Amino acid sequence: MGAEESTALDRERMVTYQLEQRGIRDPQVLAAFRKVPRHEFVPRAYQTQAYEDGPLPIGRGQTISQPYIVALMTSLLKLRGDEVVLEIGTGSGYQAAILACLAKWVHTVERIPSLATRSASILARLEYQNVTVHCADGGLGWLEAAPYPAILVTAAAAYPPPPLLDQLAEGGRLVIPVGPRMGQVLQVWKRTAGKLDYDDVVPVSFVPLRGQHGWDMNSWLGDEGEDEIL
Ligand code: SAH
Repeated sequence: MGAEESTALDRERMVTYQLEQRGIRDPQVLAAFRKVPRHEFVPRAYQTQAYEDGPLPIGRGQTISQPYIVALMTSLLKLRGDEVVLEIGTGSGYQAAILACLAKWVHTVERIPSLATRSASILARLEYQNVTVHCADGGLGWLEAAPYPAILVTAAAAYPPPPLLDQLAEGGRLVIPVGPRMGQVLQVWKRTAGKLDYDDVVPVSFVPLRGQHGWDMNSWLGDEGEDEIL
């Protein structure tokens, strides 16, 4: 069996055992996970573990999330295919590639330049033509294309950054991990008839959303070594 068939088989197993068996049902979401080559987004040293049931290091102290969590967050956005989506925390670019299969356009913002450059080049090589990677503080959102019907934050904040709530369109959904390192919860925020409301979904564990503003977790988390190069 060639390398390509073997990774396709790994993906199929990942979809069956990690996603379907845990309740991910949306056929479009499952199709995206069958298609996107997760191993291309992880550092070479971890490629053989790309389809395992957990997060992996991607350098600079950051991680690519467990496939199930990526799938759950994606499902919570309830995408129909015509949306312009905002992702904060590009990291490896994997979540952006999944979103690119399910939406019209993806703007994704990463604050560490080396990660932004690396993910942009992988996405370009794999020919994802509807993703733009921006290197900036994602806590400020991405005003140029706002408002967004769907916003996904893949780093944990003390509370949802106000600029992101401001950039959420009427009827839109914001999915974000909120809380300190050991007590985070995944929240879904909705704007309905001008009013914001949220639901708690599951406990999660994400790297912190960093930045210059009061909504980052620096003051109570300390430095977790993000500047070490793996
Ligand atoms: N979605 C990623 C995983 C992200 S890990 C993937 O699929 O691989 C969280 C990422 O958020 C890290 O790369 C981190 O550098 C980034 N991040 C943290 N604070 C940020 C901020 N204020 N703005 C943009 N990106 C940020």
